[in-house]
Amino acid sequence: GKRAFIAGVADDNGYGWAIAKSLAAAGAEILVGTWVPALNIFESSLIRGKFDESCILPDGSLMEITKVYPLDAVYDCPKDVPEDEVVESVKKDFGGIDILVHSLANGPEEVAGSVKKDFGSIDILVHSLANGPEVSKPLLETSRNGYLAALSASSYSFVSLLKHFAPIMNPGGASISLTYIASERIIPGYGGGMSSAKAALESDTQVLAFEVGRKHKIRVNTISAGPLRSRAAKAIGF
Ligand code: NAD
Repeated sequence: GKRAFIAGVADDNGYGWAIAKSLAAAGAEILVGTWVPALNIFESSLIRGKFDESCILPDGSLMEITKVYPLDAVYDCPKDVPEDEVVESVKKDFGGIDILVHSLANGPEEVAGSVKKDFGSIDILVHSLANGPEVSKPLLETSRNGYLAALSASSYSFVSLLKHFAPIMNPGGASISLTYIASERIIPGYGGGMSSAKAALESDTQVLAFEVGRKHKIRVNTISAGPLRSRAAKAIGF
């Protein structure tokens, strides 16, 4: 069977979860990468059986997630993580308890290394993550930092994931990301540089398909997804 790594699963509402289910239904083994601030809640919900109903596959069996990896796709490796920033984001979600900050702050380089150590290789890489801290601001009101943060989390994160995972992907494998129509048409409300980030993701998909296709025999595609009331979409009032 195939083995898939899906980056950007932290609950059962988003595209990442749905893609994981489809891949599991097709017989793939499922590994996921979960954003560090959401990791504790996701893992405890999984253990407590909160997602059991959402795990039911069309044939009645249950999706099994073989392993959950802590991932922060805005950092390439732990040494990039500014201490105060991580503590701040952990505090926000765990009510002041800043636990295991550094060992949890794993960028794609470290995560790909762990996956290689645990499983040897993968066949499918899914990028289902995005973040734009100023997404609710019109582009004209967006700060330089907000714009760059949107590109870092939503566009470069794919370059970085592919760069570090391609060497452990079996030839003939496939990678995919999720984009949005706001890259080419005006969607008011999709601000903060998120429209720019999706335009970059789409352009990068073509360049990476050329480069990674030649170097590793791996396909690179992006799907322009329709609106879904995921956690990310609700947060911006979509
Ligand atoms: P979602 O909230 O389920 O998924 C986004 C995930 O990204 C979350 O799990 C979040 O924890 C994770 N994340 C954010 N920053 C991260 C980081 N730095 N490192 C690692 N993970 C990080 O929402 P979704 O809407 O399913 O989003 C998945 C993808 O689909 C995104 O690329 C989004 O832009 C795209 N998309 C969504 C819609 C929609 O309407 N929901 C439409 C088109 C495209």
